[in-house]
Amino acid sequence: MGKRIWGQGELGARGKTCFKFSPLVPLSPCPLVSPAPSAPHSPKSMPTNTWNRHHILSLADFTTTEYDTVLQTAASFQEVLSRRTKKVPTLQGQVVANLFFESSTRTRSSFELAAKRLSADTLNFAAATSSMTKGETILDTAKTYLAMGTDIMVVRHREAGVPNAIAAEMDRLGVGVSVLNAGDGQHEHPSQGLLDLFTLCTLIDPASPRLELLKGKKIAIVGDILHSRVARSNIWSLIASGAEVHLAAPPTLLPKLFAEYISEELGVRNYSPTPQLFLHWQLEPALQNADFVMTLRLQKERMTAHLLPSLREYHQLFGITRTKLQLCKPNVKVLHPGPVNRGVEISSELMDDPEFSLIQSQVTSGVAVRMALLYLLGSGKT
Ligand code: ASP
Ligand code: ASP
Repeated sequence: MGKRIWGQGELGARGKTCFKFSPLVPLSPCPLVSPAPSAPHSPKSMPTNTWNRHHILSLADFTTTEYDTVLQTAASFQEVLSRRTKKVPTLQGQVVANLFFESSTRTRSSFELAAKRLSADTLNFAAATSSMTKGETILDTAKTYLAMGTDIMVVRHREAGVPNAIAAEMDRLGVGVSVLNAGDGQHEHPSQGLLDLFTLCTLIDPASPRLELLKGKKIAIVGDILHSRVARSNIWSLIASGAEVHLAAPPTLLPKLFAEYISEELGVRNYSPTPQLFLHWQLEPALQNADFVMTLRLQKERMTAHLLPSLREYHQLFGITRTKLQLCKPNVKVLHPGPVNRGVEISSELMDDPEFSLIQSQVTSGVAVRMALLYLLGSGKT
């Protein structure tokens, strides 16, 4: 078993995290979600836990305890999701608003499903069909959702910093609303970073995923690192775990300045002094003996110049194929956050090969991890 990360008295009979849900919606025979006999008969009986973070905007300052709390909570929800009755009443009466100022398929659907599985009411906003087309500002849009009683705002925007700005405004207003960054520009995508972490850790120990499981593992992150918010979030969590992180891309997509940015942040954060981050402008040294390979989409919508000679050349040099994987450890696994440019960053056959590809399990993990995040932010609110 991993570290015990919950407050007192919250481990269930089988040693699993046991949530004391409101008894309003009895869900037996599921032991994890049935109310404890002593649970008070009101939604106020939500568990208090060790979670203190009010917004989730970035992984740069996440602590080991926070990572482990998310991983263990997500494991409990993963178990709930494998049952016939997949819905729990945890966030009943709360409103989760998905404010997607930039388009998305999987992140938005995944947050929506996660909120619904927790019995929250969901509001979905898409910029293209909203009053923003009539000139409404971002903060006014957020305040409109606030006035409708929103408790948690899940925010995506193509500009870095928008979720932070909305969070600052909510704090200024003192309304207790939590903001969850669902991807801001080239900055961060924390829920993706956490679901990737969960996917890797549960592969190693499904019963007790925890950060330390990745210590010493070699993880290659390959592709459009410059434009990738996923890479930035992943770098923070993987370095915090003690993994060796090898970035590989053509120099136009992995400028030397990037290393400075990371080391400065690492200096500030005071993580392990051991060098754990390596930059490569060729693929092979990154793949050599790697345990995991994370591929990234070429973010053509964010490229302001012609940074690549051709997609075919990119695939030849940096595209992940079965042949190139022979450089890695024999049971290497490949990840991709989606959406995939088939045949560009990863070969089509590899993408669909369950022996190597974790892509589908990333999507599945996404719901459990987002349930965990909404639960951790929302459990103090009712
Ligand atoms: N980048 C998108 C997201 O995170 C991927 C998609 O649209 O499916 O949601
Ligand atoms: N879905 C991820 C994102 O929103 C990755 C991608 O779009 O390529 O950043």
